[in-house]
Amino acid sequence: MTPQKLFHQPAPPASVLMTGAHVLDPRSGIDEPRDVLIRDGQIAEIAPPNSLLAPAGTPKVNARGKHLFPAFVDPHVHLRTPGQEYKENVATGTAAAAAGGFCQVIAMPNTVPTVDQVSVLKALTATAREQALVPTGFLASITTGLRGEELTEMAALADAGALGFTDDGKPVVSAGLLRRALQYQRLSGGVIALHEEDPTLSGSGVAHEGPVAARLGLAGIPSISESTYVARDAAIALYEGARVHFQHLSALESVEALATARDAGARVSGEATPHHLTLTEESLLSLDSRFKMNPPLRSQADRQAVIDGLRSGVIECIATDHAPHAAHEKEMPFEQAPMGTTGLETAFASIYTELVKPGVLSLSLVVERITAGGALYGLPVPRIAPDEPANVVLVDLETEWTVGENGYASRSENCCFHGRRLTGVVELTIAAGAVAHGSVERKLRTIKEAQRA
Ligand SMILES: [Zn+2]
Ligand SMILES: [Zn+2]
Repeated sequence: MTPQKLFHQPAPPASVLMTGAHVLDPRSGIDEPRDVLIRDGQIAEIAPPNSLLAPAGTPKVNARGKHLFPAFVDPHVHLRTPGQEYKENVATGTAAAAAGGFCQVIAMPNTVPTVDQVSVLKALTATAREQALVPTGFLASITTGLRGEELTEMAALADAGALGFTDDGKPVVSAGLLRRALQYQRLSGGVIALHEEDPTLSGSGVAHEGPVAARLGLAGIPSISESTYVARDAAIALYEGARVHFQHLSALESVEALATARDAGARVSGEATPHHLTLTEESLLSLDSRFKMNPPLRSQADRQAVIDGLRSGVIECIATDHAPHAAHEKEMPFEQAPMGTTGLETAFASIYTELVKPGVLSLSLVVERITAGGALYGLPVPRIAPDEPANVVLVDLETEWTVGENGYASRSENCCFHGRRLTGVVELTIAAGAVAHGSVERKLRTIKEAQRA
């Protein structure tokens, strides 16, 4: 029996008729206005506008002028639990995910303690069963305590529900240890995901090594810190016939190394974050620590290479690397502040505003890439098609909003897009058949209360 890999709280299955939304699902080949009937959490019917009638008792949402997409999937979030719940927890992190239109997230294991034992993972999946608003999967660590010294019990962790393995936050420095992890992976299954950074090159750096860091007098993290590890680990994966996924690629040289490895036959994949796709090192001139993350915001040429990689498919998916930190931690001088930005609530709108509206990337491509991250870990891809579970997001692509003006669903506010005007408002998220975010939830509640009265 395959172990369960996604966990969420029980929620009543939604029934709703959405009329007239522009439905866009690149995988189903739909890109036109449609009525969509969701019945008991399943997509029941898709038909031309004004052709479906709501069954008795089913609420109807006039979605004309709005867009309906398969809901998004984030293969890289930090939920900060166990141990750092003052930054985030499963409930607040998955509420942020739902608010951003995500129906699935995959959480990283660099918690306190590390998710490096079956007991820690089991406690976490139990928490997710009680608190997660959207289905949540977990990676376990590659090495015990992220110390890079000994491998975890990968097979037992995979049996207990781990989707894969990563030491995210840190690289696996020992090539020999990574090689052994890849050999075990062939037995245990589960993808190995890598945060690539040569610590002897990044040292105590806090910003991309380049003219901006030089002007500000900040210690630099060179692009080769990332790209040399991508090249090294892709070569090890090719040699072992193993599968690796490169997290948050930020540098031009890394995208080139990934493309070269792919051409050579290596089973490698990559992800890009909204911040590396839309921002550069220039943002650091403000010395606002919201722009401090690892890997750092890099040059315009790096940003362009990441965009081009996403467009060509060398980079398969968008991942936020949602990394919450408390205000007292971030409100420090730039050098001392922790690295990381939140990203779940702004992912789609930031990319839509900065890349789709100006015509750099097509809407269809962005929807494809922002829903692709779970498949890399063997999860089913959300689809808008009859008999599929309802995993959909309704978005208003006309309305602008200011990031943070109404606070955040996340427990933390360290969003690099804070204060920006973005276009694209997530109105409704249905995840695994249940309303996870939005106004239909209120509508359904009103109807239920009316029926009870
Ligand atoms: Zn990382
Ligand atoms: Zn991360």
